[in-house]
Amino acid sequence: MARYIFITGGVVSSLGKGLASAALGALLQARGYTVRLRKLDPYLNVDPGTMSPFEHGEVFVTDDGAETDLDLGHYERFTGVAARRTDSVSSGRIYSNVLEKERRGDYLGKTIQVIPHVTNEIKDFLSVGADEVDFQLCEIGGTVGDIEGLPFFEAIRQFAQERPRGQCIFMHLTLLPYVAASGELKTKPTQHSVKELRSIGIAPDVLVCRSEHPIPEKEREKIGLFCNVRKESVIAAYDLKSIYEAPLAYHREGLDQAVLDAFGIAPAPKPNLARWHDVNERLTHAEGEVRVAIVGKYVQLEDAYKSIKEALTHGGMANKVRVKVEWVDSEVFDREDPAPYLEGYHAILVPGGFGERGTEGKIKTAQFARERGIPYLGICLGMQMAVIEAARNVAGFKTAGSEEFDHEAGKRRFEPVVYHLKEWIQGNHVVERTVADDKGGTMRLGAYTAALTEGSKVAEVYGASRIEERHRHRYEVDIKYREALEGKGLCFSGMSPDGRLPEIVEWKDHPWFIGVQFHPELKSKPFAPHPLFADFIRAAVETSRLV
Ligand code: GLN
Repeated sequence: MARYIFITGGVVSSLGKGLASAALGALLQARGYTVRLRKLDPYLNVDPGTMSPFEHGEVFVTDDGAETDLDLGHYERFTGVAARRTDSVSSGRIYSNVLEKERRGDYLGKTIQVIPHVTNEIKDFLSVGADEVDFQLCEIGGTVGDIEGLPFFEAIRQFAQERPRGQCIFMHLTLLPYVAASGELKTKPTQHSVKELRSIGIAPDVLVCRSEHPIPEKEREKIGLFCNVRKESVIAAYDLKSIYEAPLAYHREGLDQAVLDAFGIAPAPKPNLARWHDVNERLTHAEGEVRVAIVGKYVQLEDAYKSIKEALTHGGMANKVRVKVEWVDSEVFDREDPAPYLEGYHAILVPGGFGERGTEGKIKTAQFARERGIPYLGICLGMQMAVIEAARNVAGFKTAGSEEFDHEAGKRRFEPVVYHLKEWIQGNHVVERTVADDKGGTMRLGAYTAALTEGSKVAEVYGASRIEERHRHRYEVDIKYREALEGKGLCFSGMSPDGRLPEIVEWKDHPWFIGVQFHPELKSKPFAPHPLFADFIRAAVETSRLV
C-alpha cells in the first residue's frame, strides 16, 4: 500500500509546487522507491484540452490519450514515469462524474452534497492504483483558502484520517517575502497560511519556504515554533538558475530526509544522485551556444510551449551547448518577408497550433529554412505547414492548404493537402470520430506507432525502425500527394503501420529538415534527451560553425 504525500501551497500562487513535487519524486526514486505523481486541479473545466494556451500554458498529452495539465510534464521529465490519464483530475471532472451518477440514479434519491458525495469522488480518485507504488505524491492546485479548492482539502483531510496512522503526510509550500527597508525575511504570511490550513484540519508535516535570501537559523526556529513543524522540516527553497538543479538543491536542504522522517522511515536508504549530478554537470559545463527560433502563434506566454523549450534544453545538454531560444511571432510573416527576422538563427522550430492565424507565416518560415538549408523541425502543425509549402512551391499544387482553415463547403479556398480525418486505426481497432463539433475529445490523441523507412534520416536519428510517439491533432497529410511530393524530394519517412497516415516527412537534399505529425517534446527528459531534439541541436551546432 502506497504512502501518500499531499502537497499544498499558500501565500501566493506560482511558487513552484509542481517543481517541488517533481523534485521530491526524483529524490525518492534516488533512494530506491517507486513513485507516482498526481495533480488535483480545482478549476471547473473538465480537462485542460479546451483551455487557451495563452491562459493555461501547454496541454500535456499522455500515452493513453488524456489532455492534462502541464505540471504532469514536469513530473514526467523529473521521474521518467510516463504520465497517465488517471494522474490528473479537475473539479469539473469530479462534479461531472457526480452529476452523471446522480442522473443514473446511483445515489438512490439521496440529496447530493459536497460532503460526502464530492469528497467521496475525490477520495475514490486518490485510491486508484494505491498498491502500485511506494509513494503517491498528490499536488493540489491553487492556494489554501481558494473557494474552489475547499472540497479537495476536505477530501485529503478525510483520506489521511481514514488511513492507518503514518501513511499520509502533508507538505506545504509558502513564501517568505523580503522587506528591503528593514532587511528582513517575513514569516507572518507563512504563519497565516499554516493557520488557514490547520483551520480546515490539516497540519503540515513539512514546510517548504520559497525565499530570495538565506533563511537565518533564528527564523527557521520561529517558523517551526509558530507553525508547529519541526525545525529540520522547515526547508528552504531558493531561486535556481535551472529547474534541473532542484533535486540536488532540495536534497541539500534536507527535503527528502524530512519527508522520510515524517513517515518514520529509519534508517533511510542512501540516495544515489548520479543521474542528477550528470545533468547538472552538462548544464553548467556547456561549451558554446546555439540560437534557435521558435516561430509560433502563442509566443507571448512561454508556458504555451513548455515541453518544447525543455526538450531543446535537453538537446543542448546532449551536445553540451547552451540553447538560446527566441520566440518569433509567425503572424508577422503573414504580411512580411521572414528573411530579415530569421537570418542568424542556427535552427528553426515551428511548433503545433490550431486555427489559421499565423499559418501563412509558418509556411513562409518553412520555405525559408528549406531554401537556405537551415535545420528545421516542424511539429504537428509545423509539419503540416512544411508539407503545404512543398506542395505549393515545389510540387506545383498552387492552392494547397489545410481543411482546418476551409470550413465552408462549396467555398473552398484551398486544395486540401491536409484533410480532416474521420476514422483511423489505433492498435488493432478502428476509431471513428463520433462528435460532430470541433471541440473537446475529437482528436487523434495519445501514443501511436510509426514505421520508419530504412535508410532515412529519422531511422538513423532514432536508431530504430518502429517508434511510438504522442499525438494531438485532427488533421492529417493526405497520402494521395505522396508520390508527387516524393518525386520532388520530400520523403514520407515515417508512416502509420497500416501505411495510411504520414507521420514523418523529411527533405532528402537538405542538411536537416524534418516534420513530425506527433509531439516528440513530450517524451524528452534531461537525463534522456529525445533523439530528434538531440540531433536537431547537433545540426544547429554544425550550422553555427559554418557562419
Ligand atoms: N491544428 C492541427 C490539427 O489539428 C495541428 C494540431 C497541433 O499542432 N497539435 O491537425
